[in-house]
Amino acid sequence: MEEFILLSALNQYEYCPRRCHYIFVENVFIDNEHTVEGSLLHGRADSGETSTRAGTPQWRSVYLYARQLGISGKADVIEERAGELIPIEYKKGKRGQWTNDALQLCAQALCLEEMTGKPVERGYLYYATTGRRQEVVFTAELRQQTLATIAAVRRLIASGDRPPNPYTPRCKGCSLSDICLPKETARLQQPSGG
Ligand code: SF4
Repeated sequence: MEEFILLSALNQYEYCPRRCHYIFVENVFIDNEHTVEGSLLHGRADSGETSTRAGTPQWRSVYLYARQLGISGKADVIEERAGELIPIEYKKGKRGQWTNDALQLCAQALCLEEMTGKPVERGYLYYATTGRRQEVVFTAELRQQTLATIAAVRRLIASGDRPPNPYTPRCKGCSLSDICLPKETARLQQPSGG
């Protein structure tokens, strides 16, 4: 049987395939202020408790899997409203700039659907800095993108090839930029003048 892909690997791949390769194929990880803040935030959500929020039942740090898709991981919080299960993922900072968090949340929904047999239509990203929730609707397009990313991560792990490192705005916040060296690589690849 194929190995299960972690939900966090889908998030990292969507952020940057090379970063995903470093972390999940080469086992290389370096913290920066963004990753430390994120870990502290998840640590607070990771109590394994059951509680209620304004009368709404919540489960914290819930293990999820979808055998058919070969994915597994944890949801920070699952809330139940009128029989509807809603995944909630805690994120540091303000509203996310990229689609990786929404994609990870959608993968949680796909797991919940397989585990419960019930549709999961939406979830929330909770941003610590603003204390606000952003609703994410699991559209057909987002589901398709999530399935495509699962397949892409599986190919990445099977191939073992490290993807290229073009410099993008995402590199600025990436904790692995000092070993990835995207700017330096681009400089070396430029044809020398004269
Ligand atoms: S520095 Fe840029 S290219 Fe390298 S892993 Fe990070 S985001 Fe990806």
